[in-house]
Amino acid sequence: MRKSTIWIWIMFWILAWGCTRTLPVSISSLQQISTNSNVQRTDLAHLCGDDASYAPDTSHLDHTPIKYLRVNVHFMNSSDSTKNYSGERAKRFAQRMIAEATKGLENNTKMWLPINNETPALPTRYRYQLSASQGFEPDSGVYCHYDDDLYWFVSRGKNRNNYSRNVIQKYGIGLDSIINLFIVPHHPDSVISETYSVTSAGIALGSAVKISGVFETRKDPWAFKGIINHEIGHVLGLRHTWNGNDGCDDTPRNINCWNNTQPPPCDTAASNNLMDYNANQSAWTPCQIGKIHKAMSREGSLPRKMLVKNWCTYDSGKTITIRDSVSWQGAKDLEGDLVIVTGGVLEVHCRVSIPPGGKIIVESGGKLILHDARLHNSCGQFWNGIILHQDKRSPGEVIYYGDAKIENVASSPEPISE
Ligand SMILES: [Zn+2]
Repeated sequence: MRKSTIWIWIMFWILAWGCTRTLPVSISSLQQISTNSNVQRTDLAHLCGDDASYAPDTSHLDHTPIKYLRVNVHFMNSSDSTKNYSGERAKRFAQRMIAEATKGLENNTKMWLPINNETPALPTRYRYQLSASQGFEPDSGVYCHYDDDLYWFVSRGKNRNNYSRNVIQKYGIGLDSIINLFIVPHHPDSVISETYSVTSAGIALGSAVKISGVFETRKDPWAFKGIINHEIGHVLGLRHTWNGNDGCDDTPRNINCWNNTQPPPCDTAASNNLMDYNANQSAWTPCQIGKIHKAMSREGSLPRKMLVKNWCTYDSGKTITIRDSVSWQGAKDLEGDLVIVTGGVLEVHCRVSIPPGGKIIVESGGKLILHDARLHNSCGQFWNGIILHQDKRSPGEVIYYGDAKIENVASSPEPISE
């Protein structure tokens, strides 16, 4: 074949291929999207407020990115430095204590109650991160304070100060964005009283937590993982389960036994839930995890303010790929792109934040359905909109129903490339 003939053939195939391919379109507003489809409208917007909508989907764990709570630790001490850990010892103790509490978050255990329950032990999908305040980055996030007037803790009697916020107001650091843990020793006068028990006790006050009995009991940092997870559970909006309505059906009321020990009824009636008072405090139910993630997803909430804002930084390694039929009935804060591939159908019912510079890609044969959904960037920045592939044989589809919104798309998103 002559050279010129080969070139004609090459040009022919390039043109023929080009005619069957359609360039993807960039969608930055609702006006560019169809509302006509055979898809049945399912109005589930009310589910955005349900705890169950926020429990991690174990088939798609990456759809619930792990949230990191910023925490710091303050050791309150007397001016002679005899009542608490200090210096490097305090730092090491705090680091191990936070690491042990984090291990508890990583190892959710099966509920003991009700007996013979089938409640799944879902991954909690949140962790702690020892953090310095903005502007104080060289800090370790561990602080020692020496103050004879404020270092002590009394949980009952006329000098009771467990509910006092004085120590928090004076020594708190970054209270608007960090959970401040105060390690406060029992008052020496209490310790010498025979009727006062020097045990570990805690109390959550806003974004701060006071924990007593750490130094005096000389226990290993491991011993405080339950109390830390319990008190931070309160900061995140959880209530006690044994004695009242905590808003969850999977956390039965109980008689609050410390452990499964003789005599009856505590031989079998103990709970291991983190929001009871017990020796384990190691079990989170799906409802409790859902409550926590719902609170973390609620814009402006206190738990959300305590988080490392990983959704405000685009991470190419955090792409979520939809390959089957998925329905998002709770709000999401994505940390990378969202890609819906051939055969994938994603129905969105609530708020979804796409990171700055991130995008949604609907490939040929993929489908994105927005039911009263709000796509936006929750950091006051811009994302790059929806890229819809339109192969003629199997075009990608984007459809909306009801009060859907597309907000914060950059006015000149990145150019589309195949
Ligand atoms: Zn409590």
